[in-house]
Amino acid sequence: MLFINEKKIIETLAENEQPSSERVDAVIAKALELKGLNAEETAVLLQCSEGKTIQKMLSTAKKVKEKIYGNRIVLFAPLYLSNYCANNCLYCGFRAENKQLERKALDMQELKREVETLEGQGHKRLLLVAGEHPAYIGIEYITKAVQTVYETKKERGEIRRVNVNTAPFTVGEFKQLKQAGIGTYQVFQETYHSETYKKMHVSGKKADYEWRLAAMDRAQQAGIDDVGIGALFGLCDYKFEVLALLQHAEHLQEKFGTGPHTISVPRIEPALNAPAALQPPAPVSDDEFKKIIAVLRLSVPYTGMILSTRENAETRNELINYGVSQISAGSRTNPGGYTENEKKHFPEAEQFSLGDTRELDEVVRELMKQGFAPSFCTGCYRSGRTGEKFMQLAKPGDIQQFCTPNSLFTLKEYLEDYAKKETKRIGEELIAKQLEQINNEKTRQLTKQKLEQIERGQRDVYI
Ligand code: SAM
Ligand code: SF4
Repeated sequence: MLFINEKKIIETLAENEQPSSERVDAVIAKALELKGLNAEETAVLLQCSEGKTIQKMLSTAKKVKEKIYGNRIVLFAPLYLSNYCANNCLYCGFRAENKQLERKALDMQELKREVETLEGQGHKRLLLVAGEHPAYIGIEYITKAVQTVYETKKERGEIRRVNVNTAPFTVGEFKQLKQAGIGTYQVFQETYHSETYKKMHVSGKKADYEWRLAAMDRAQQAGIDDVGIGALFGLCDYKFEVLALLQHAEHLQEKFGTGPHTISVPRIEPALNAPAALQPPAPVSDDEFKKIIAVLRLSVPYTGMILSTRENAETRNELINYGVSQISAGSRTNPGGYTENEKKHFPEAEQFSLGDTRELDEVVRELMKQGFAPSFCTGCYRSGRTGEKFMQLAKPGDIQQFCTPNSLFTLKEYLEDYAKKETKRIGEELIAKQLEQINNEKTRQLTKQKLEQIERGQRDVYI
């Protein structure tokens, strides 16, 4: 089962230490062909420390991302169901030994209220998150929560895609989750370095490295073909983690014919009573973090990359240039954190401290000012373009023919139903400009027609 070959990762990094600028240039040129990079080539980029060459890497990552996804950025909100946790991850505020944390698991009524609040802000995509605790968070609870989210509709609001980030399940349990209609199932290995993993996960089910590592295989076996992997940067050498993420992606590709749908790049933030969060064992600087994102974009160009509100607004604004394709917005990381009477920020109940506390509307506006098209699109998932089908389109960059129109439709809906005046003004300008840039005459006309339908009141328009 162990498809992570730690020895090989260490060797590959050692063999490619201090690469010549010619070698780095050759790898960057290859990355522009959008075919991805192998471990050796990725190691060359990771080992490069020369400022000018790194700049070239960053600008190439931006080009690659634009070629594949256009300028859209998908927005979602995390929704924390419960902060009960029987595990003891040394970096997390939810860990069992944090006795100062106020514990809570939402009941379905409370969940409904949270969903209504998020719908009222304009969200269409949610990520359900929970600690791991058999007494509170079993598969029945999670599947019921997924169903409740889909069923909760307020005025024009509805959630069209529910992704899940919880402790891993058995194949049978994953089948139940699939039945409930989940979008992507995410779980992060945190660190792929088994020794470091052991040190960080001192007790509880999560202490089992292999059970977690095999989670995506079980999810795929159960028919969940959009899976999201990730590493928590700051626990172990970032170069090691990037090459391990690549091995994980290659393993999924070989075994199931499709790599991960997304890669998440959380970076450790301070958390209450969490020693490894207050003093990360292998801290990653902002410059290194930029490089991580650019290298991943060049190595696995067709895979979505997710950045959360852990990062502050300024850092996120910069990082989305280098390859991030999805960000969370307006987030709270405590159960019940969105509901009206709890709208005040309650840092003592949070999983970790938030870097970006801007509201959704402000995030949408800022993105557009930077030239990005915010998207709430769920078109692929709902048209059955998931797993291998999605990757076949994403790999040659064809997904843009859907992404651009669909992102404009969901942006238009947002502008009509939720945006503040200034956001709407900027948004309408952006849509007009984007429309002009659609080269294919037929697609442009179709997009125009559908935008007009939305203006006349039609909703949930996608191709
Ligand atoms: N409990 C489940 C698990 O551990 O997989 C799922 C939810 S957990 C709340 C989601 C993720 O939060 C973890 O996988 C970890 O990467 C991230 N996380 C935990 N503590 C963090 C911290 N201090 N800063 C940033 N991210 C953190
Ligand atoms: Fe629990 Fe997940 Fe936090 Fe670990 S990361 S303590 S499993 S919530």
